[in-house]
Order: sequence, then C-alpha cells, then structure tokens
Amino acid sequence: MNNRKVRTRFAPSPTGPLHMGGVRTALYNYLFAKQHGGDFLLRIEDTDQTRFVEGAEKYINESLAWCGIKIDEGVAEGGKYGPYKQSERKDTYIKYAQQLLDSGNAYYAFDTPEELDELRKEAEANKEPFIYNAASRNSLNNSLVLSDEVTQNKIQSGEPYVIRFKMPANEIIEMTDIVRGVVKVNTNTLDDKVLFKSDGLPTYHLANVVDDHLMEITHVIRGEEWLPSMPLHVLIYRAFGWQDTMPQFAHLSLLLKPTGNGKLSKRDGDKMGFPVFPLFWQSPEGETASGYREEGYFAEAFVNLLALLGWNPGTEQELFTMEELIKAFSLERVTKSGAKFDPKKAEWFNQQYLAKKTANELLPAFADILNAKGIKYNAEKTETIIELVKERASFVKDIWEQAWFFYEAPAEYDDKIAKKRWKEETPELINKIKDILAEVEPFNAENAKADISKYIEANELGFGVVMNPLRLCLVGGGSGPDLFQIIELLGKEETLQRIETALLKLK
Ligand code: GLU
Repeated sequence: MNNRKVRTRFAPSPTGPLHMGGVRTALYNYLFAKQHGGDFLLRIEDTDQTRFVEGAEKYINESLAWCGIKIDEGVAEGGKYGPYKQSERKDTYIKYAQQLLDSGNAYYAFDTPEELDELRKEAEANKEPFIYNAASRNSLNNSLVLSDEVTQNKIQSGEPYVIRFKMPANEIIEMTDIVRGVVKVNTNTLDDKVLFKSDGLPTYHLANVVDDHLMEITHVIRGEEWLPSMPLHVLIYRAFGWQDTMPQFAHLSLLLKPTGNGKLSKRDGDKMGFPVFPLFWQSPEGETASGYREEGYFAEAFVNLLALLGWNPGTEQELFTMEELIKAFSLERVTKSGAKFDPKKAEWFNQQYLAKKTANELLPAFADILNAKGIKYNAEKTETIIELVKERASFVKDIWEQAWFFYEAPAEYDDKIAKKRWKEETPELINKIKDILAEVEPFNAENAKADISKYIEANELGFGVVMNPLRLCLVGGGSGPDLFQIIELLGKEETLQRIETALLKLK
C-alpha cells in the first residue's frame, strides 16, 4: 500500500457553481498529489440526475484552470482509468451492485417512499428515530424477508426497487482519519443505505467507492460533510474485499462565516460584499453570483488565501506561490476546527500580490479600465503613474481611484478640504505659484520643487500653506502621491490650466 503511487481526486457533483470551499478541497488534493509526485484526477459525479445543472461542469473546469490547478486525468484530459464521468460508467456500477447482492452484503427493497414516510412519522411520534437496519429490516418489504421467487417476480413485473447495503448489527467500526485521528462508530446507529436506485443509477456511496477503487485512489481528501459516510464506505470496501488498497481518508473542516457561526454561504457574501465563488456565475434561470476573478482578485492571491484557510505551515510565512505550497503543504497541519473567513484578510492577500507586480505587469489590466472609459493614454506615462500609486491599491480598480486625476481634471473640489485650506489670502499666493511654475524650465518635478521651495523660504511661509491649496487645485482633494510628481506628469500646460480653473471656481 505504501509504495503505491499517490493518486487523489476531486469529485464534484455538477449541481451549481463551485463554492470556494470546494476549490479549497480541490487545491489540497492537488497539493498533496504533486508533493508526492502523484496524480490529481477530476471525476464528475453526476449520478443524481435531479440535481444536474447545465453549465456547472464547465464552471468547475474553468475555475480549476484559473487557479492553476492542473488536472492529470479527467473528462477533458482523458486517462487510462476513464471514463471520468459517472453517468458514462453505468454498466460498471450494475456489475458491482450485483456482486454485493451475490455475496449477501446487499439486498433488494420494495418499500415505497409513502410507506417509509409513514414509518418515520410513527417513530417520531414515539420520539424514536426510524432506522432501516438490522433492528427493523426483518419486518419490512425486502428480499431478506420475501422468498427468492416473490422477489424475482416483483423485479420482473417492473415493481420499483432499490438495492440497500446490509449494515452489520452492533459492531464498533474503528477508522483513522488523517485530520481527525481515530473515529469510532457503532453500526447500530447507521442505516442500510441505498446503493442503487430504481432509475438504474447508483447512489453516491456505491459509485464513489467503486470508482475510487478502480481509479486506484490512495487518499480521499474531502469536505467534512462526508465524515458520517466514512463508516459506510469502509464497510463497502470490506464487503468487496478491497481493504488492502482502501484509500486513506482526510475530512476537511468547513469554511466558516466571518463571525465563526456556521458555514460560509452566498448570503454572507452578498451581505458583506465579498464573493464565495471563484468566478462569476449565471444559472440557467438567470440568477447570478459574483466571483473572485471578476472582483479583481489575482488567481495567485486567491489560491494563497484559500490554502491558508484551514492549513497552517507552522511558520510565520503567509505568502506562498503554488510551487511553495506544493513543498510546504501537509495534511497533518490541516486544522480540525473550521476556518473563519476574513474578507479583510482576503483583500490583504490581493494587495500583497499587487505590490509585488511591476507596473508593466499591471498595465494591461489597468489599460482595460482606461479603454472602457474611452481614455486615450500613453503607455510609458501610465506605467509611471501605476508605479506612483500602486502602494495604495489592493486591486487594479483601486489604481483608478488613486490615479484618475492624471487623466481628468477635477470637476469639483472637496468641500471639507477647501474650507480648511483655501483661505482669504490663498488666491494671491496660488497666483504667485502659478507664475513661478510658468517659468520652470525644463518642466519637471525636481525643478518645480526647487523653485517653489525657494519662494517658500524667501517668504518664510509654511510648506503646507502652499502645497495644500495647490494640491486642491490640481487633484480636487487633499491626498495622493507626491505633488511634484503629479505636476511633472500633468505637464506645464495642464498644471497651469488647472490652477486657473481652480482660482475661478474656488471662492
Ligand atoms: N460528489 C461528492 C461531492 O459533491 C464527492 C464527495 C467525495 O469527495 O467523496 O462532494
């Protein structure tokens, strides 16, 4: 078992957009496989036809591709264990369901949903749970009670049936989960789960175990909502006689709301203004949900922040490339408790990645914004502008918030700043500054600074008394990068023009 090649899989059901928690599951599977020189598979679990959503599979593929999670074997990639879509593996499941029937580990059950509902209600009235298992199965409508002949007749005549797993009675099942340690369950608390449905398709449990076995999966890394299924899966492996190659299990804790109370949901995101999906999604009915990509997150930042939601490297390091994650990741350092999602921290990650990018790397995304606004720009100058403001930006769209005045003259002036900085004597002073700037030659930051400083010193003025109102004239407010840099980038003509306009408008 230990010398088998590591193979992990991400096995989503195409029931809607992939939640960021699902992306994290895929990521951990990928990191673990790559760290061990193994394979990472994508298997589409689409046996529940009632929950199938058009477009979901494409969305899953696009999301993983955006994150840089590369699939070794899958529906599109192919591979020698295919097909990788469960709806294309129907015959396989029939064969294995039959095997469990033949070995006495499964049986046919004919109870109708109405009958089962009735039993559930009765049990509820007696404040007991209704469990279809050793305690009750002998008084129910199944092939353990009926004769072979009756059973076969029912099947032949087309009566709907399911195939159930025959859960052993009163046995303590002891299992090891890599994240949670030893887990013990008494089988009396478990029910005879349906393995095969009347529509001719397997349920998740049968298909999942059969495929993990046939695809030679060595580690099952998945969300904790599947922890209660682990004993059943272990018993199915045993029933097939596949214990020796049974994968190891690791169940990952949930991503929690920022408050820590419950599972992170789309509603939390909507309320607090952050996405819970990697990409923008539109359902066939037209409902939409925002995505990290469209909100301006870099894929590397998204991957980095996801990796640290539920895993810690045991060091202070917070920024990791995919390569570094592959080296550092370990299932042993995956946390047992849920990971609280912090939207501010998510932004911080993006800001860190933005800061690391050069202006040249940021230019195309920023140019998209300029183009969308119909602004003509000079690439070289725009790179300088990006360089000047990028430390104040978490997203490329923030660059525009910080730099718009390089492209448009202010249409109005910040009232509060104007009240504070624009005094009675200011127009005369600014007029003087305008005259000085008109004479600066060559017109650049250094010379403008030298000439204005000379004037300030000669007249024993405070620096702020001049610079604050001058900034108000040029950018309409009280903040932004170095004013002399702004002056140089605007150029003499535009600078003087803006001062003139301000002198007219600011009273
Ligand atoms: N199809 C299951 C899901 O949608 C897969 C669970 C597993 O990984 O075993 O989550």
